Amino acid sequence: MKRERISTILKEPQLGEKITVKGWVRAFRSNRFIQLNDGSTIKNLQAVVDFENFDENLLKKITTGAAISVTGKLVESLGKGQDVELQVESIEIIGEANPEEVQKTVMQPKKHSLEFLREQAHLRFRTNTFGAVFRIRHAVSYAIHKYFNDNGFYYIHTPIITGSDCEGAGEMFHVTNFDLNNIPKNEDGSINYKEDFFGKEVSLTVSGQLEAELAALALGQVYTFGPTFRAENSNTSRHLAEFWMIEPEVAFNDLNDNMNLTEDFLKYVINYVLENCKDDLDFLNERDKKEQASKPQNKRSDMTLIERLEFVVNNDFERLPYTEAIDILMQSKPYKKKKFQYEVKWGVDLQSEHERYLVEKHFKKPVILTDYPKEIKAFYMRQNDDGKTVAAMDVLFPGIGEIVGGSQREERLDVLKEKSAAFGIAEKDLWWYLDTRRFGSVPHAGFGLGLERLVMFVTGMTNIRDVIPFPRTPQNAEF
Ligand code: ATP
Ligand code: MN
Repeated sequence: MKRERISTILKEPQLGEKITVKGWVRAFRSNRFIQLNDGSTIKNLQAVVDFENFDENLLKKITTGAAISVTGKLVESLGKGQDVELQVESIEIIGEANPEEVQKTVMQPKKHSLEFLREQAHLRFRTNTFGAVFRIRHAVSYAIHKYFNDNGFYYIHTPIITGSDCEGAGEMFHVTNFDLNNIPKNEDGSINYKEDFFGKEVSLTVSGQLEAELAALALGQVYTFGPTFRAENSNTSRHLAEFWMIEPEVAFNDLNDNMNLTEDFLKYVINYVLENCKDDLDFLNERDKKEQASKPQNKRSDMTLIERLEFVVNNDFERLPYTEAIDILMQSKPYKKKKFQYEVKWGVDLQSEHERYLVEKHFKKPVILTDYPKEIKAFYMRQNDDGKTVAAMDVLFPGIGEIVGGSQREERLDVLKEKSAAFGIAEKDLWWYLDTRRFGSVPHAGFGLGLERLVMFVTGMTNIRDVIPFPRTPQNAEF
């Protein structure tokens, strides 16, 4: 008998058909009603058993968490909560689950804390919340590829192991095959990387941008979408040591084109989720409502999750220069009442508390800040005519803070050389990047979006560890 997936059955129920469904038992009530889930949708299929017709020992094995196969006829359901149900004719136990053991896990159907769920990251896929989050994470990833493909971008695979550290001095994970107890040294005691696997010092990438620029300056419009690593020891709810970054790069784009692309792209992906993930979103919307009601002091918005997504899709992002944002912050109530923990003055990098004030309190919508002081941004960002700022842009989202960081890139060889020297980057390490400015250099721009930050926004989850299947954070790489 052909196996049907529950999502298909519920979408187009073929009443009277005999079908087989395989999945995991979520609950078994009154020795009669099985709630079966196969992961294809958040919805369960109700399978109804006439217990008189089945062996007692078999029925005993239909417990929460067990994997079973049921075959029967699909009929209209008279009960509340479902339109159709399966009248079970035969049952096969595929994998048993010991009820006493299940009691101790997140499969036990009751409310668990997210912390407890994280300790059982290998089992949390079985819960409604995480099923919904990871189905949506898939939809977001698919929509990202679809957007770029439909708009003529090429997907470029940039390296994971890299010899360039141009962004995050000190934030990189080293890659080596040295015997760590016996590292080859030079005469002066320093490490002899010549003897290492690549003959030089290499790390896990913190960004694919520099390589993406090389591709953009030939293929026109490209994007990367891959794992990214940062050894930042900041145990925040918005940072992972391993995350996924999307980095488009477009030849001939300036900062304004870059902002237009970012806004159009983010709206497309969010709208895709609104249109294609209805069941999961409805579930997360209710979850978010309860969360917000239980933590009024941390309330992020008066809107529900779905309203927040619709709001972003239907409204223009606010765009303003960093300098104006500093003015707004210095006029703000929390500034005057000394409520900000970190300093605000022209030249400092904005902290999450400042970003969230601008987005959640002042503008009440996504904000794109541009033209930051050159000292606090990367060397490759294009110098503005004022000599003080660069053509940078950060997109700030409610509840998240920075979700995208991007810029127009410095295309002038002389300025770029000066900047990299000022940032202490040796030309010999960067010759391949500088070369692109020697041969047909053109203005170009791009940005980096952290996939997990976007998934946080569309699911309403407030900790980044809960939107990636296996989070890597300081002191934590279990599973
Ligand atoms: P932040 O200021 O939030 O630490 P950043 O300025 O270091 O971020 P960028 O180097 O601009 O980040 O990276 C581009 C995007 O990648 C960010 O806007 C964010 O969405 C994402 N990102 C950066 N660092 C992390 C991280 N440790 N974990 C998850 N996402 C990240
Ligand atoms: Mn940034």
